[in-house]
Amino acid sequence: MESLNPFSMTRRLIIKVGSALLYDQSSQSFRAEWLSELASDIAMLREHDIDVAIVSSGAIALGCHRLGLPRDNLSLPQKQACAATGQVILTQAYEAAFAEHGILSAQILLTLNDTENRRRWLNARATLSELIALGIVPIINENDTVATDEIRYGDNDRLAARTAQMTGADTLILLSDINGLYTEDPRIEKSAQHIEIINKITPDISAMGGDANAVGGLGSGGMATKLMAAQIATQAGCSMCIMDGRESRPIKRLLGDEKASWFQAARNPKDARRQWIMGHLDIKGTITIDDGALTALKAGKSLLAAGITAQHGEFIKGDTVSVLSREKVEVARGIIAYNAAETEKIAGRKSSEFQSILGYDNGMALIHRDNLVMTG
Ligand code: GLU
Repeated sequence: MESLNPFSMTRRLIIKVGSALLYDQSSQSFRAEWLSELASDIAMLREHDIDVAIVSSGAIALGCHRLGLPRDNLSLPQKQACAATGQVILTQAYEAAFAEHGILSAQILLTLNDTENRRRWLNARATLSELIALGIVPIINENDTVATDEIRYGDNDRLAARTAQMTGADTLILLSDINGLYTEDPRIEKSAQHIEIINKITPDISAMGGDANAVGGLGSGGMATKLMAAQIATQAGCSMCIMDGRESRPIKRLLGDEKASWFQAARNPKDARRQWIMGHLDIKGTITIDDGALTALKAGKSLLAAGITAQHGEFIKGDTVSVLSREKVEVARGIIAYNAAETEKIAGRKSSEFQSILGYDNGMALIHRDNLVMTG
């Protein structure tokens, strides 16, 4: 058996496969050989009792190819038709590649709603756990056919991080067409420096991701979404690696001296519920607080209406909002107990005044400490 040094602590691994690895745009062909080599990598991991799940892109690229549609400027329904067509090709290809090693696969299609809604999250988690326990390799993708532009991930980097969090994985590898994080975009700046190990995602590191919308083409996740994924994964106690996966046997190469960037898992991961709140992508509004409230939050207290100085957004009770400091920097995220109109009325006021202002007093903090997670 080959030794798996960098994975000596790994028990559960999520591998994200980018579109460019499965579909070669220049030769307009499916990279079947590469996938068959990846299956050998997965077989090697499983020999070492490492659970594996794959988050795979490629449905839209493969579907476009089959339908003979131009890849640029597709309408949303066209993209969805491509995804529906390509997803069949994608799953069949994985199934066939894994069959060579006697490994079974299963298809899971998730939407943003499935990961933002706690009940659906728990259901998806139970299914994934069962599949993994049965020794099956889940192949996950976004359910592009039902997602609309406003409520979709759009990139599989963050979906992969949410999957890592959902399955309690300890390692996430993003197989990409770039070998990691650079101080600047290496395609533009020749002096850009590669960063091998990232212990903490500071604002300086986040800035290296550039604009979330800057990278076009088929794979929609640029470096910005990879850094957001790193934030979600590392806070959940999962290390994340970005590597260039285009050559064959990427995982085996990672065991050698392959250049890559590793984001270290947080030492004290937050509990499961806080991780889930922290990983929310669909933030409905912001609440700005004063210094007194910030001190209270840091001491583990709930957010009270008295400390609010401003608010923004059309949130309703149960939505996740972002809590900003006086300097407009995010310090926390939480599930709010009042809707936007009520929050506006009680902002800056004491709980004892709620009865006369709202006509009721449910005794609730604006965000209860159990529903709050510090992010700053
Ligand atoms: N879900 C998309 C697909 O299968 C990919 C999204 C992405 O590029 O990350 O084509």
